[in-house]
This record gives sequence, C-alpha cells and structure tokens, in this order.
Amino acid sequence: MAVTSGQPAPAPIVAPRSVTILGSTGSVGCQTIDLIDRHPGKYRVEALTANSRVELLAEQAKRLRPRYVAVADERRYRDLKDALSGEGIEVAAGKAAVTEAAERPAEWVMAAIVGAAGLRSTLAAVRRGAVVAFANKECLVCAGELMMSEIEQRGATLLPVDSEHNAIFQVFEFDRREAVEKLIVTASGGPFREWDKARMAQASPSQAVAHPNWDMGAKISVDSATMMNKGLEVIEAHHLFAMPEERIEVLVHPQSVIHSMVTYVDGSVLAQLGSPDMRTPIAYALAWPDRMDAPSQRLDLGAIGKLTFEAPDPERFPALRLAREALKSGGNAPTILNAANEVAVERFLAGGIGFLDIAETVEETLSRMPNAALTCIEDVHAFDAEARRIAGEIVASRS
Ligand code: NAD
Ligand code: MG
Repeated sequence: MAVTSGQPAPAPIVAPRSVTILGSTGSVGCQTIDLIDRHPGKYRVEALTANSRVELLAEQAKRLRPRYVAVADERRYRDLKDALSGEGIEVAAGKAAVTEAAERPAEWVMAAIVGAAGLRSTLAAVRRGAVVAFANKECLVCAGELMMSEIEQRGATLLPVDSEHNAIFQVFEFDRREAVEKLIVTASGGPFREWDKARMAQASPSQAVAHPNWDMGAKISVDSATMMNKGLEVIEAHHLFAMPEERIEVLVHPQSVIHSMVTYVDGSVLAQLGSPDMRTPIAYALAWPDRMDAPSQRLDLGAIGKLTFEAPDPERFPALRLAREALKSGGNAPTILNAANEVAVERFLAGGIGFLDIAETVEETLSRMPNAALTCIEDVHAFDAEARRIAGEIVASRS
C-alpha cells in the first residue's frame, strides 16, 4: 500500500520483525542499527549491505548475525569473506548482490543507500511488497512517478524516514486529504545561511559538511549547504503526499525543532516537533505502526526559548529554484537534476570545483538535455547516465 492511497492499514507486527538494511554503514544505517541494538529480541536481521567499508560491515554482521551480507565494491569481496570466515553468514559482492539483499524475504527494509545508486535495490524491495523505510530520497527524485506506481501495484508500504516527510506523515490526514491546504517543509538553512555569495564562492568541503544541527553523510550535508537538499525534499514530498509543487512551501527554521507542518482548510496547522536526531524518525519507521523508545534528547522548549522562521533566499540558494523548475517540467528533468548534482557534489568534495559551481553545473546540465518522458525504469537509468556524462564534462571544464 502506498501512503498516497489512504491511511495505511498495517498488519500486526510479529516479533521478531525481520529487517534488511541497505547502506548499513552510513549515517542512517548506523543509527538504525543503534536502535536495533537497544531493543534485543525485537528484530532479526536478514541482510546488510555497504559500498566498501567492509571492516565496519563485518563488525555489524558479527554482532547482528544476518543471514546475508553484500558489499557493492567487488574488490572488497575477499576482505569481507576473510573477515566473516567461519561465521556461517553468506557473503557476496557486486551491484547484483546488493539487489539480492533487497530481494531476500525481510518484512521491513531500510533504504539508506545514498544517491541514485540505491534505485535498483530499493525498487527490488518495493517489487516484493515489503514495508520500505525510505531514507534514500534520490530514488524518489529520479524515478518518483514510476516508484510510486510500483508501490501501488505491488502493495508495498512506504514509510518516510527523511525527518520532514516523517513529520508530515505523522500529522497528515490521509482519509481527509481534500482538507489539506498545503505542506510547509522546514529547512535549517545549512551552514551558509548567513553567508554572502562572495564568501560562499570560497567555501571549502569541510565548511560545507559542518552542518549546524544534524550529523549526516557528506553528500546530504553538502546538499543542505546548497539547499539542493530542500529542493530534493520538495520533489520527494510531491510524490509521497501527491501534492502539487505550488502547495509545498519551504520555510527556513534554523533551530530544526519543527520538522515540518501541514495546514488544513479550516486554518489548523499540525506540526511534529523533536530534537534534531534522526533516531526519532527512524524509530517511528522501525516500530511502525507502534512506537518504540528512542534515546533522542528530549525537547526542552523552555531552554530553547525562541523558534525563528524566515523565507529562503532564492538568489543565494539557486538550487531550490532549479529543483522546483525540474519538478514543474516533469519527465526526465528531476532525474537530470539529481544526477548532475551527485556528480557536482562529488567533485566539490574532492576539491575539484568551487561551491557555487555545484548549482551552476546542475543548471547547465539541465539546459543541455531536452525534456523527455520517463516510461520505464530503464529510461531513468539512461537519462541518469547521460546527465552524469554531461555534468562530468562541465565539472572537468571548471576544474
Ligand atoms: P552516508 O554516506 O552516510 O551512507 C550511505 C550508505 O550507502 C553507506 O552505507 C554506503 O556504503 C552506501 N553506498 C554508497 N554508495 C553506494 C553504492 N554505489 N552502492 C551501494 N551502496 C552504496 O549517507 P546517509 O547520510 O546515511 O544518507 C543515506 C540516505 O538517507 C541519503 O539518500 C540521504 O539523503 C538520506 N537521508 C539522510 C539523513 C541523515 O541524517 N544522514 C537524513 C535524511 C535523509
Ligand atoms: Mg530532511
């Protein structure tokens, strides 16, 4: 069942719930494991996957005893195999092995791979009708309509993990969606919220990943600094809640206490609040439809004292406009936006281009590729690859 088709009617959880974590070595993956560790006997791990960090992956596997462990980077197969020898855990490597991890029969799957690289495996979990905790927003950005229709057809359940979408999910009246007026997606504003453009032009990768409120992976941290993250989240919200672009507002809220809001036709505004700790939305998804204890710091509004809000600045943060335009264009535009952004962020993190080059690379890539429809997942892969090729040329010319 998709969240768009009405209030999800969950089946009762049978303990232990079987779970698979795609991207277990990342920020979201490790926080998911932290919660599982704190609830012994409640979860049984079917499979874990990582890109290349086999030491951490093997350590996780020895503790959680999954049946299957996959590393995407085939060159790391031997190291993983050696680290887990004699443990009775099946070990595999390569992209297909990661997809196989998603295909294995876990009731609940955390999709926490970063970027479009997570598309095949996330889709595999959706196609077998699993409950999918969705952190990997790039999947919804590059293949949103196709992904949502697969979820609908296959009877999969999609639980948003991104803190904003999880907040909206918690206060969204699915049975009365006609009474929803708009969504207000909050944004911290990132580390450069108060920087002028000349200063941003000189920003280093370490400054860009130093997020004021959240501790996250490098890619999403840079996206927060450019505010492309919020652009991706507008697209994500559009798909998850079937809301048109013009009814999704972005509001900068530097304290990251209100994680997002839904306004209703009677003037009511419903919000979800909490300290900025991903373990709260992850716990919501992990325990859904129940709730579980999470160690997130409890909110002390008296100590915080003041919550502030401001409109995003489109001049300093053009990425947000680019994402909105891509959503309005539809078809392959969000796929191109996402792929070009991934290439540019990677090159920025490697010290190859400047911070302002990221959004410019995305804009130029979009301008060089004609708008076209996406009819199947293969189209997504083809436009993604083409956009990466063009963005690669653009960043090379700027390096
Ligand atoms: P991360 O970089 O910390 O971890 C990414 C994970 O994906 C790692 O386990 C890595 O091994 C795996 N991975 C990377 N490339 C891969 C590839 N080519 N094939 C297979 N596996 C690969 O990222 P993160 O911060 O945990 O973010 C994961 C996803 O969750 C992203 O889509 C991000 O936007 C989203 N998200 C993260 C946060 C957060 O607080 N970190 C919050 C909201 C949403
Ligand atoms: Mg978010």
